[in-house]
Amino acid sequence: MARILIIEDNPANMQLMVYLLRAFGHETLEAQAGQAGLATAQNDLPDLILCDLQMPGMDGYEVARRLKLIPGLKAISLVAVTAYAMVGDRDRILAAGFDGYISKPINAEQFVKQVEIFLPPDKHAGSSKPSNLQS
Ligand code: MN
Repeated sequence: MARILIIEDNPANMQLMVYLLRAFGHETLEAQAGQAGLATAQNDLPDLILCDLQMPGMDGYEVARRLKLIPGLKAISLVAVTAYAMVGDRDRILAAGFDGYISKPINAEQFVKQVEIFLPPDKHAGSSKPSNLQS
């Protein structure tokens, strides 16, 4: 399992992502705005950050730019979650420092798999071995 920070201003989207990730055994951290998300990232050092692009105040692009300027944080996988994945936006999203994006509306059956693409295999849900099998 992984520790995943979600930066998202929409409560319904936040609730759905938290529910799905926790259902698969992942730990979630939540921030409703970009500034709070940056602070949580620095304090808690998540394995992966999911970030909405459209937020009041600091948008997701700015969150990405700032994260990539912080030496201890720039290696963390950063994934945009956006309804605005139109032609051309893909390049802008990647140029901002995101490793990729997941499109809204969130697909409840696919979401966790879409997230785990950006996690190493040992951080996937259900990857921890029963203790009697560990050498
Ligand atoms: Mn939003």
